[in-house]
Amino acid sequence: MKLQSEHFRENLPAFLNNRQLRQNLAHATRTVLARRQALVAEIPDWEARRRAAYRKKKALLEDWDRQLAVFAEQAGRRGVQVYRAEDAAQAVALAVEIARRHNVRQVIKSKSMLTEEIGLNEGLAAQGVEVTETDLGEWILQLAGEAPAHLTAPAIHKSTEQIAELFSRKLGRPCPADPQELTRIARDHLRRKFLQAQMGISGANFAIVEEGAIAIVENEANARLTVSLPPVHVAFIGMERLLARRQDLALFLPLLTISSTAQKLTSFVSYLTGPAAADALDGPRHVYFILVDNGRRRMGRDARLRQALYCIRCGACYNACPVYQTIGGQAYGWVYQGPIGAVITPELVGLERAQQLPFASSLCGACSQICPVHIPLHELLLYQRHRIVAAGLTPHPERLAMRLFGWMFQRWDRYSKAFAWLHRLPWQRLAGSWSRTRRLPMLARRAFRQRAHSLFPRNRPQ
Ligand code: SF4
Repeated sequence: MKLQSEHFRENLPAFLNNRQLRQNLAHATRTVLARRQALVAEIPDWEARRRAAYRKKKALLEDWDRQLAVFAEQAGRRGVQVYRAEDAAQAVALAVEIARRHNVRQVIKSKSMLTEEIGLNEGLAAQGVEVTETDLGEWILQLAGEAPAHLTAPAIHKSTEQIAELFSRKLGRPCPADPQELTRIARDHLRRKFLQAQMGISGANFAIVEEGAIAIVENEANARLTVSLPPVHVAFIGMERLLARRQDLALFLPLLTISSTAQKLTSFVSYLTGPAAADALDGPRHVYFILVDNGRRRMGRDARLRQALYCIRCGACYNACPVYQTIGGQAYGWVYQGPIGAVITPELVGLERAQQLPFASSLCGACSQICPVHIPLHELLLYQRHRIVAAGLTPHPERLAMRLFGWMFQRWDRYSKAFAWLHRLPWQRLAGSWSRTRRLPMLARRAFRQRAHSLFPRNRPQ
């Protein structure tokens, strides 16, 4: 997809003024948050689980190189061909090379944000390979020519009526605004694609180091068909997706499914250990794992930002974020959105190109509170702001104003003089309608610290 994060501010008004979008988002996020809350209330040790997940991811990424090597070795033993891709271009080139090796013309693909990140569909299409998305939400967006608007619910911003109108237009026949009927139409269309494809591409929710296996979580069974029907399966795996042991799934799966779709467990969890045996009736004969770096290891070198790599892509921080609830995902202009997107996008596409995103937050902390792996998102947002300022990327007048504020706030006499001067300004005219119902507050005659010292003299600092 086309990167537009540098145009975040310019793009905002269009999203802010879209009433239908806000209605769709409010309905979807409120529903899933309420259901999640009810499920969390049934789990007395939810907080302990979050902390345990944080500790496990922390330990694993502190030993990252060795864990990656063990994962690759174990997968290789089971007959999987494992590659590493340093960046997006290398990852796409590997997929093109595998497609050529197996004379692939048609590919089916299950939901994978990593493949969106590296621009896989465009890369394969440029080589004449047709890619069909098989996740219902992703297929809707492929028809619409749009980017996903959420980690786990890519078409969250669309109403049933909008989807019916899209299907009618693209498929050339009237389609009713009925979710069941729309799903049946999609299934009919996609079934043909499943049967024609020579290669299936998936992501991976978790990569299990001790067994060199991957786990995929879903509700539609399209991922299971994608990885089992065509003779070739290629899985794109973010290097941070590791879990040490299979038992860790008992901790991480409910954290993921409750936080993402508010389910105790999704309808399907596939555990893939390699190619089908020679005498098996079905299953892929060739399996490839492509471990993608694309900026992750650089992020991991910074102890604070490394915490963002513990993310299990549940999307709960999107749902809880008042900014996301107001503007939706596409406003952010890239694959990862909401609070976690605002933290990691500057690392993946460059601080300069995504410098506006960490400022798209009220720092209310709702994201940190809801994150199932306890990532302190609001602290990381502040940290990214600090790095952007330290890199001199904020506008010159803003830097000057902040220096002035810094000087002013150092001393009470400077602050009170500046405030008195502010009161003399014609606020009614300067601030327009905003000031009609508001007044600039008066400054107290004595600073709070002075008053506190006279009230509690014994606490006066020596
Ligand atoms: S940062 Fe936390 S809440 Fe947000 S998507 Fe990742 S795991 Fe989920």
